[in-house]
Amino acid sequence: MPGMPPLGPRGFLTEEEKSNTPKITKELIFRILSYLKPYWFQLSLVLVVIVISSVLGLLPSLITAKIIDEAILGKDMQLLIKLVLLAIVTLAASNIVSVLESYINSWVSQRIVYDMKNEMFAHLQTMSHSFFTSERQGDIITRMNSDISGVSRVISSTLTDIISNVCTVLTTIIALFNIDIKLSIIGILVIPLLVLPTKSAGKNRFKLLSESQEKNDELNDIINESLSVSGSLLIKLFTKEESTNDKFKKVNKEVTDLSVKESRAGSWFRVVMGIFTNLGPLLIYLAGGYLIIKMNDTAITVGTITATVSMINRLYRPVESLLNVSVDVTRSMALFSRIFSYLDIEAEVKNKKIVLKPSFKNNTDITYENVEFYYSEEKPLIKDLSFTVPSGKMYAIVGPSGSGKSTLVNLLPRLYDVKNGSIKIHNYDIRDIELSYLRSNIGMVTQEAYMFNGTIKENLLFAKSDATMQEIEEACKIANIHDFIISQPDGYDTEVGNRGLKLSGGEKQRISIARVILKDPKILILDEATSALDSISERSIQNALDILMKGRTSIVIAHRLSTILQADQILVVSEGKIVEQGKHEE
Ligand code: ADP
Repeated sequence: MPGMPPLGPRGFLTEEEKSNTPKITKELIFRILSYLKPYWFQLSLVLVVIVISSVLGLLPSLITAKIIDEAILGKDMQLLIKLVLLAIVTLAASNIVSVLESYINSWVSQRIVYDMKNEMFAHLQTMSHSFFTSERQGDIITRMNSDISGVSRVISSTLTDIISNVCTVLTTIIALFNIDIKLSIIGILVIPLLVLPTKSAGKNRFKLLSESQEKNDELNDIINESLSVSGSLLIKLFTKEESTNDKFKKVNKEVTDLSVKESRAGSWFRVVMGIFTNLGPLLIYLAGGYLIIKMNDTAITVGTITATVSMINRLYRPVESLLNVSVDVTRSMALFSRIFSYLDIEAEVKNKKIVLKPSFKNNTDITYENVEFYYSEEKPLIKDLSFTVPSGKMYAIVGPSGSGKSTLVNLLPRLYDVKNGSIKIHNYDIRDIELSYLRSNIGMVTQEAYMFNGTIKENLLFAKSDATMQEIEEACKIANIHDFIISQPDGYDTEVGNRGLKLSGGEKQRISIARVILKDPKILILDEATSALDSISERSIQNALDILMKGRTSIVIAHRLSTILQADQILVVSEGKIVEQGKHEE
């Protein structure tokens, strides 16, 4: 998964991240800044607070120098008490300031995440049907959740860390030079000594960590595949137990070896870090002591040496972190690029600049005119297909599975657009009609009746949010489902479960019919269920559908003889063409 740095040292890019490094352009930067712009005031406040906090952070070291030199060595008890109290106050103040900083910071970053999530969700809602049939759902969820939430990390930690580290380094260096120039030069020379060895030890460990993670993924794949229901069955039937075991053992050994190596590198990493972080202060003590003892330097005191040491310690983390800044920035840019690339996907089916909302009151003739359609160009599906369903008539479509019947009807509410030719309602090309107006006039009852997790009533209100209880009950009576609903302990407040799993296929179908009755569209598309329903369910669904179709223009993908018998015309579709048309008797 790109963008998720492995645990451990962060200062390096994985191979995958390296090959996916985004180009940092002016446009990208401006686009990112456009999300920060509404919060410029709060962000400036964060900046001010960071500067205050880095100055406050220096005071304890400076006060310590005075405590040693003037109060303790000068034997001044009153001054000692004053300085200690002052140190306590600055300590408290710097803590309060840092609480304030993190509060404003998280406020801003969470607001930006809120804005982006809303924008992404609204954008994905406009995506065409083809987007959802081709995109993996996991990817959509990753973009929505992990990636956008990652933005809050970029703002609340990467961005402010950079600023706060730069402030800390600058203020500390200024303060160091004000204490004693010679000592500070020595101190600063020591810093690379502290930082570089840990960086190279870290690199080795990072490499091992990445490798071990990859191997672990491989091991998990083997476990997932071979211990799944179908995988284990396949292994049994082909008697592959032994070779699967060998494969597992081999990868397992590699994982084990890498883990041992990684843990050894980890110990060395900690040793190197420990040695070098302790070496720095010792070198300053050595140099400072040398200046006092051998050179009789009176400007240097025990207090100034102590202060220098504690300030150098203060520099260590920010400097290390700033050395990794390019990695953090690359990772953040990659994150934003991924989000933006998603926001930039254009909907295939959308409104024209000027759209019509013709009245369908008296005329809902549906005309397919030389319609051509394919999902992929190499495989033409619907070729030069024409027919007209006059207002108020019911046409049945029959044909073998895979012949393009569902595709044909999906073109009407513009789930896909025709590639050639046109579809017209009342002589208006459906591409000229406002999309939501078009869809509000078409009701679809699909084979799979999808339901949102919630109550029956909530699912019905989805069709008409302002429907009264009376309207709902009427629709359910027509759909032959009212009696079932009221026989439930919770009646209309019965939970349907995830995707309506708590209901039977027939019950779901009738609820979805009630849903379309509430919507009351002029045009109806029905895809009859092929799955076997018991004859009572089937009859009650058929009755419901008969009432539903009255007075509407309907296209039915028919699987039942009774439907075919009732149809005004039957269209026989084969390989994307109408091969026959007529009444049943004909
Ligand atoms: P029918 O309803 O007659 O069974 P469909 O219209 O569902 O036929 O499918 C016709 C052909 O188009 C099939 O070969 C099917 O595999 C293909 N198909 C259906 N939906 C898609 C899609 N979203 N993307 C690509 N191919 C599809």
